[in-house]
Amino acid sequence: MPRRISIFGVTGSIGQSTVDLIKRDLRSYDIVAVSGGHNVAQLARDAIDLQADVAITAYEHHLDDLSAALAGSGVEAAAGTAALLEAADRPTDWCMSAIVGLAGFEPGFRALKHGGTLALANKESLVSAGALLREEANKYGATILPVDSEHSAIFQSLIGEDISAVERVIITASGGAFRDWPLEDLTGATLQQASSHPNWDMGQRITIDSASMFNKAMEVIEAKELFDFTPDEIEVLIHPQSMIHAMIGFNDGGLMAHVGPADMRHAIGFALHWPDRTSLPVERLDFARIGRFDFRNACETRYPALRLAREVMKMGGLSGAGFTAAKDAALDAFIAGRCGFMDMAGIVEDVLSRLSRNNEYGCGALSLEAIRATDQLAQTYAAEIIAARAS
Ligand code: NAD
Ligand code: MG
Repeated sequence: MPRRISIFGVTGSIGQSTVDLIKRDLRSYDIVAVSGGHNVAQLARDAIDLQADVAITAYEHHLDDLSAALAGSGVEAAAGTAALLEAADRPTDWCMSAIVGLAGFEPGFRALKHGGTLALANKESLVSAGALLREEANKYGATILPVDSEHSAIFQSLIGEDISAVERVIITASGGAFRDWPLEDLTGATLQQASSHPNWDMGQRITIDSASMFNKAMEVIEAKELFDFTPDEIEVLIHPQSMIHAMIGFNDGGLMAHVGPADMRHAIGFALHWPDRTSLPVERLDFARIGRFDFRNACETRYPALRLAREVMKMGGLSGAGFTAAKDAALDAFIAGRCGFMDMAGIVEDVLSRLSRNNEYGCGALSLEAIRATDQLAQTYAAEIIAARAS
């Protein structure tokens, strides 16, 4: 029986890598739904190539274009949030959650009730609502497999291990575009400079988040949410080669390091074939040619996002939702030229302290409604803070 698969965010960087793997063995899969945003031509091309049942663009004004591009193909065209959620309700065995931002939360959340595997690339889901996702997965017997190189590395390093023997988890970071820049030059970093990554080829938002280390800050929180590590157990280490993705330190002093090429098709392919391993079309590392692995400390003055991540982990509750929304608003402002590169952390910090001053994190149960409300509030606060800083 072919496995039923949906890919949300198919037109993005993770989505395209997923398509690349699936196309190599199309007969093993029955593609239910694929979703995209503005790139209707790509969405239609993938839907036709994969013979999906339905293709959904997030934006209703693209429906006519999508319908035209899919005419005669047998693929159903749909648009808008309701259509996206309806598609997520269609039963699957494996679902890729690769929409960027909190918009990716609900399709993934809904897919959990099919009791299959959720390959989770959308990190905003975990940071904002990790507990909710895990609760839902437990309720329906679904499995969440991380599709982030560091978390896939942690997952793989823990196979067969006793989690209570884990003392420390080291998440590596490339250091992003500005790792070798003098600290004082960072305030003047431009959008173009922040949008190119030394090692990974990714979407623009995550590339800028890598330069600011907001990406790593999110990953630290992701690690806590996925594996129940305590904040003190999680360390960040700069490793410019991006080949060791994570290391697990055990109480006998031994460490398990996961080493692999900087190619997301490894983590995606692992999630696709788990619990088996299958040959994947990624580079085989040549250590003699690589020659060395370097490491250095991740300085919190250079990367204030890491300090904020620790505060969020301490606060818990809805603070992850506030952090994600504030980070996204600050990133939008940087992309739009409304704030400088180093202002982003200050904006997020101001939003977090305003939320906590007003005691907006609440103590009630984490719910979708509460997350949405915190998301909205953090966006409102961020807009006010960004406007005040700009004036
Ligand atoms: P991307 O920008 O390349 O693609 C994003 C996808 O989401 C596209 O298909 C786009 O059409 C869709 N999308 C955007 N806004 C949407 C909305 N409002 N509603 C519905 N769909 C929308 O992003 P990416 O780099 O592929 O990253 C996807 C997710 O995976 C992000 O959460 C990112 O943090 C995470 N991630 C990415 C990488 C990577 O290597 N690219 C690694 C780890 C985790
Ligand atoms: Mg990562």
